[in-house]
Amino acid sequence: MEYFPKIGLEIHVELKTKSKMFCSCKNDPEEKKPNFNVCPICLGHPGVLPVINKEALKKVIKAGLALNCEISEFSFFERKSYFYPDLPKGYQISQYSTPLCKNGFLEIGGKKIRIRRIHLEEDTARLIHEKDCSLVDFNRAGVPLMELVTEPDITSAKEAKDFAEELQLILRYLGISDANMEKGQMRIEANISLISTNNSGDLGTKVEIKNLNSFKAVERAIDFEIKRQTEILKNGGKIIQETRGWDPVKEITFSQREKETEKDYRYFPEPDLPPLRITKEILEKIKKEMPQLPQEKRKRLEKEYGLSKDKIEILIRDIPLCNYFENSVSELRRWLKDELGKVSPEDEFFSIETLANYLISDVKGLLRKNNLESKDLIFRITPENFAEFITLVFTKKISTRTAKDVLEEMFEKRKDPSQIIEEKGLYQQLGEEEIKRILEEVIKENQKAVEDFKKGKEQAIQFLIGQVMRKTQGKIDPKIAECLLKERLTKKE
Ligand SMILES: [Zn+2]
Repeated sequence: MEYFPKIGLEIHVELKTKSKMFCSCKNDPEEKKPNFNVCPICLGHPGVLPVINKEALKKVIKAGLALNCEISEFSFFERKSYFYPDLPKGYQISQYSTPLCKNGFLEIGGKKIRIRRIHLEEDTARLIHEKDCSLVDFNRAGVPLMELVTEPDITSAKEAKDFAEELQLILRYLGISDANMEKGQMRIEANISLISTNNSGDLGTKVEIKNLNSFKAVERAIDFEIKRQTEILKNGGKIIQETRGWDPVKEITFSQREKETEKDYRYFPEPDLPPLRITKEILEKIKKEMPQLPQEKRKRLEKEYGLSKDKIEILIRDIPLCNYFENSVSELRRWLKDELGKVSPEDEFFSIETLANYLISDVKGLLRKNNLESKDLIFRITPENFAEFITLVFTKKISTRTAKDVLEEMFEKRKDPSQIIEEKGLYQQLGEEEIKRILEEVIKENQKAVEDFKKGKEQAIQFLIGQVMRKTQGKIDPKIAECLLKERLTKKE
């Protein structure tokens, strides 16, 4: 009997807002001082009144729009009651029966993964477990938290990882959250059940995996869980409904809680907050603020620049690098037009490809070597200078060997390429034949100096180099001229 997995994801995302969800405390995930950004509201003192953060609502609606959801015209917040030390009020303000967004989807590799709901709630405090006590830091308590739940449409670990990565990218494009998994700004739980091929509609026993705090963990943990469950079922065993954790060191899942039953959270409408009504006007206004999303941008980059899928993916995932690329290309078009007069479609295509190649391999290498990020690049090489550099390479004014040195110097000294090339005489305007011809000419016309050099007068070579430089109008490196002259004068005869 064969088994196939059905996987659903539950993803929590901390929103990037100035203040917390229901109070004016600063929402600062970088705050190191514990219990610093707190007030009676987020500490859950009795008698305080929460106020809804409009910006957080807008951000969740943007996520809903980007993920093809219906946006609920009417919705309201509810109290989810449970006790835990990180929850001072004894309840969390969340949404249950009326999520802000529902029935959406995200396309992964041409397949639609349905999104059941996206709602808004508040984050809990952070518990820090010490050796003989546990500490509570309320800086995170009340931070706006978006929860997204997919239908169990995902069928492999790789697909789950791709979904999570694409979601992170969309959230970043929307400016909703940095969604950094290592920092806990995006937290993923996966539900996995196995269904046998000859089963009639049974959904299998659901196992939930928590603590997935990297994309690698998402992929590895799901893979492990599929194998573990398959083995149990093939040996005639039964899957226990439970919550499991992921151990990233041993790379195994382990049982945390058995027989998870639906808890009674006693949801009821939050009496201290008004219901929400998202009118058409509000929705239209938010729609106008939507940026271009990764999927549309991929299509545009392909159409406008003819880039390969691999290159597009690198640029799509690095927003500052992509902006730099596009600015450089528009400069490049100008440079090429000045240089070539008329730019053929082939020249256009290959010059842009050259630019993308240098940017993705050499320039990124220089950034890495200097511990810099893509956003810092503009301070080292302006798009205009980079475009000029590419023009020099593309029109073969400099050799590809020279190009690497020039680029490095541009990066380090922030100079423009023509300046470097002129200073160093790196122009590749003279062909090998022409250089040979000039050398022969100089030797023929300056027999006395040649004789002097052959007799051992070292300084005679300087005179000859000077003559070569004069005839080449400085288009050759004096060091190279010296080498070539010495080689020519000592080899022959
Ligand atoms: Zn507060």
